[in-house]
Amino acid sequence: MLTWPAPQIPQLPGEGRPIRVRDSSTGDLVTAAEGPDARLYVCGITPYDATHLGHAATYVAFDLLLRGWIDEGKTVRYASNVTDVDDPLLERARATGVDWQDLAADQIALYREDMTALGVIPPDVYTGAVESVPDVVRAVQALVDAGAAYRVGRPDSTGAGEDDVYADLSADPSFGAVARLDAATMRAFFGERGGDPDRAGKRHELDPLLWRAARDGEPAWDGGDLGPGRPGWHIECAVIARDGLGLPFDVQGGGNDLRFPHHEMSTSHARLLDDGHGARTHVHTGMVGLDGEKMSKSLGNLVLVSRLRAQGVDAMAVRLAILAHHYAGDWEWTDTVIADAVARLEHWRDAVSGNGGPAADDTLAEIRAALADDLDAPRALRAVDAWADLSSSGRVPDDELVEGAPGVIARAVNALLGVRI
Ligand code: ZN
Repeated sequence: MLTWPAPQIPQLPGEGRPIRVRDSSTGDLVTAAEGPDARLYVCGITPYDATHLGHAATYVAFDLLLRGWIDEGKTVRYASNVTDVDDPLLERARATGVDWQDLAADQIALYREDMTALGVIPPDVYTGAVESVPDVVRAVQALVDAGAAYRVGRPDSTGAGEDDVYADLSADPSFGAVARLDAATMRAFFGERGGDPDRAGKRHELDPLLWRAARDGEPAWDGGDLGPGRPGWHIECAVIARDGLGLPFDVQGGGNDLRFPHHEMSTSHARLLDDGHGARTHVHTGMVGLDGEKMSKSLGNLVLVSRLRAQGVDAMAVRLAILAHHYAGDWEWTDTVIADAVARLEHWRDAVSGNGGPAADDTLAEIRAALADDLDAPRALRAVDAWADLSSSGRVPDDELVEGAPGVIARAVNALLGVRI
């Protein structure tokens, strides 16, 4: 799948510290990637309401991780997907009378524009669900052959080759290790987030769909012995991550509403496909709210990046508004949040406009330390604020101004925080 243009990442003096992140499975701070290579998978969009602030906050958060790794000198490989066929997309297309492929194409294009404007590093491997179908078919067949998946007859089935295929979670003794939830919470989340706990014929209510047999009026692809159909969501990500990064990889990321069932299930699938390995670390971002509610497609209370841009808001201010909040916490989008970010951007731009300024070394070190400490963007912003305040104050004697220091700050803010000033 086509990505978007990569932002320029300026060179900085010295190098960054090892990035530590909070593993949401254990709550521990862990080194995000050991060794010279670093591999990241972030779940992509389902293209029907791109790109709201919740999406943007997630992709900016993992963009910081990539930038931190690059600053450490690591060789980075990043994979992501687009769920360009799934129930919510088909439902939206039906409800609005639009062809589902046109809807997906329009929303993916918008998403690319938003990511470009926000300066987000594009994935090295960017695969759509539709593109992944032959690989998913092979993976599902392998799970069936291994006895880790089984067929469930469609309620309206008229013959062979019309079965749905489900994963048998009892084949995976480590199931539950990602989200670590009790049975009642798992069942509730599974039902709320696209699962079908009440589907008749399943061995266990949480067993997730791997392959959905073709239905009238729905797109379908050749599934070989599985029969025509389309992939389930979790197996799609497991296969794209495996094929794009190899297993195990370092970090799987996404919004915290993906912890269960999506990441639990996709990790379980990956384990069974690769004899015991998925992502080493799971990292999850908080939810962005509006007017006291979680911003979500189902509630329809979305602030779209494209709409803000169309209103003339600088995308770098949108990025700064996101970075003013730690990725892991929930936060609220308000007029004040964006107004503060616009003012901060202006202040920083003024402060770096001169040739000489206060020494930059300590500020650069503090930005790096903040990133290394669980991607603490608000702390990094405070460090730049302090430098910009001093620079603009006129309190630094002329003989203490360092030539080129504003340029170092501008490059650091660009390279590490992705904010072009
Ligand atoms: Zn995913």
